[in-house]
Amino acid sequence: MINNTNILINRKKEKASQGCQVVYKRKNLTSLLLRDVESLSAEERTCLRDYYGRYGREAFEKIAVDNKIVPFAAHVLIALDCDISFWQEKHNFFVQRNQKIKAILNSIFAAMENFDCKSLLLIENFAVVLASKLCIGCFCSGDVDLSADIAERYKIIDCLRGFNFIGKEQPESIGEYSGQSMQFGNCDIIEGGFWINVAWKPVTRAFLIQDRYENRLAKDRLLARLISDTNIRVLDDTALMYFCALHIAAGHYYTMSPGLRLYVDIDRLARACNINWDHIVKWEMEDNAGIRISTVMYLSHKLLKTPVPEKVYNKTFKNKRNIKLVNYLYSTNSDEIQNSSSKLRRLYIELASDDGNIVSSFVSRIMQLMRSKL
Ligand SMILES: [Zn+2]
Repeated sequence: MINNTNILINRKKEKASQGCQVVYKRKNLTSLLLRDVESLSAEERTCLRDYYGRYGREAFEKIAVDNKIVPFAAHVLIALDCDISFWQEKHNFFVQRNQKIKAILNSIFAAMENFDCKSLLLIENFAVVLASKLCIGCFCSGDVDLSADIAERYKIIDCLRGFNFIGKEQPESIGEYSGQSMQFGNCDIIEGGFWINVAWKPVTRAFLIQDRYENRLAKDRLLARLISDTNIRVLDDTALMYFCALHIAAGHYYTMSPGLRLYVDIDRLARACNINWDHIVKWEMEDNAGIRISTVMYLSHKLLKTPVPEKVYNKTFKNKRNIKLVNYLYSTNSDEIQNSSSKLRRLYIELASDDGNIVSSFVSRIMQLMRSKL
């Protein structure tokens, strides 16, 4: 148990590091390496090959490692015929690792039935990998995210204990979110250890007003489907898209660590799944989500050329405040996203993502804070 605790602490530190973006000939190489290969234009392919010829494999290894996108970069570089055997080996490592993760999750979901746990779902990136049936190698997080009803918390803890996953509440240092999720670690199950986060809220953020998201997620959980030939439960494609976008906007303030990689989920779902875009537009309004969903859709469209209908992101340009936020997050000139983080920046992003004026957004947060202290 001591080992597990140490690993959990180290994991937190590792998560805090930020990647860096390399721009070459006004193209962001990091986002090119995350792209769906078919979507790369001849010019973009030439740009990558040109940089490869000029700076070599080491330069690409550095971009891939710094941004934690090794399998994604390998996938693209194999398709571009750059050092195929070298990158194939890197990619294969993740294919095998991720198949193991899928098998572990399958066993956990099967066991949950014995505990009569009905609300548990796989969400976020690994759910997208499985739901989209795209490359299983292109996933490199050290953890997966589950969502469940807090009423089933003890069943989940007992079940995961059977797989030697030791749970703990979120640390004191992020006390403002305490009680919103739990983290379970097992340092032996795969090389380097593995973590499962179980969130009781749609997004684990203290000052987000999320009653409406909670109601929607509780309803959508009942409509969950199984990943074929497994016991793994996921949201239906459109709901998965909606909550992934909400997670990026509210959980990662659009562009914070791991940065560009976040948008791969949106891109995969848009390309490979059956998304009801009208529902996405409607839900954003119904939940009072401001421009959170539309901004994520717009950024994904810009960064990864994701095929998102214009009607889904139009709202992003509704007023000056919204436009300012988009310009702050993404520079069209340099093709870069901003990912420096501070309390003030996060507060700005949170308030500028709302529909109303900034004063009423601020007042509603203060009211929320007061309610939570009562
Ligand atoms: Zn791949």
